Amino acid sequence: MSWLTDRIADGRARVLGSRVEARAGRWWISFQVDVDRADIDARRVAPVHGPVVGIDLGITTFATIAADDGTVTKVANPRHLGRRLHRLRRADKALARAQPGSKNRAKAARRVAEVHLGVSNARADFLHQLTTSLTRCNSTIVVEDLSVAGMIRNRSLARHIVDAGWSEFRRQLTYKAAWYGARLVVADRWYPSTRTCTTCGDINHDLRLADRTWTCHCGAVHDRDGTAAINLLRLAV
Ligand SMILES: [Zn+2]
Repeated sequence: MSWLTDRIADGRARVLGSRVEARAGRWWISFQVDVDRADIDARRVAPVHGPVVGIDLGITTFATIAADDGTVTKVANPRHLGRRLHRLRRADKALARAQPGSKNRAKAARRVAEVHLGVSNARADFLHQLTTSLTRCNSTIVVEDLSVAGMIRNRSLARHIVDAGWSEFRRQLTYKAAWYGARLVVADRWYPSTRTCTTCGDINHDLRLADRTWTCHCGAVHDRDGTAAINLLRLAV
């Protein structure tokens, strides 16, 4: 709280409103705050000549990041979400079995709410850390058009859950890029990022969604996510 109270004390922030709600058996208060960002922004500026990166979003690998120094980094989709989803299913079952109106039912309902809260906190932490480091360390970030990515890949409930992460990732990346002065480039929806050979530039029109790797006529072997990230990067460089 000192982050906020110090600023309120010397006039760099003021509280516009607040809201109290009960969630998962706890009380939560949230503030709507008007903050003077000048001193924050001055300390957190994306380097003008910093790295340029292309980012491909996926399911098992949440983000594949290709940088202009030639490195490709894979950020795995955090497994704690999976573990919590397992716990959630168990809590849901317990709730379904509990006698209506019973004490056990109230307990089971609170348990479900707690697990939900844990999932959403874990996801929020993961996305915030990733988007903050990306926007603070890079000068330019290229991402794919999300509407297309979602349309193509959105096939099951599990993917719905991941999709929510993708749009939140994009939302955070957009406002943080503006905060830190990084340039955010969104690839044209027809840009063939997964199909273009990074060696010879030929486009593989036979690539199917299930193909994780493919070999070009020129002999180059491509990993789908890595190829997409590199081609996105090339849009900017
Ligand atoms: Zn090729």
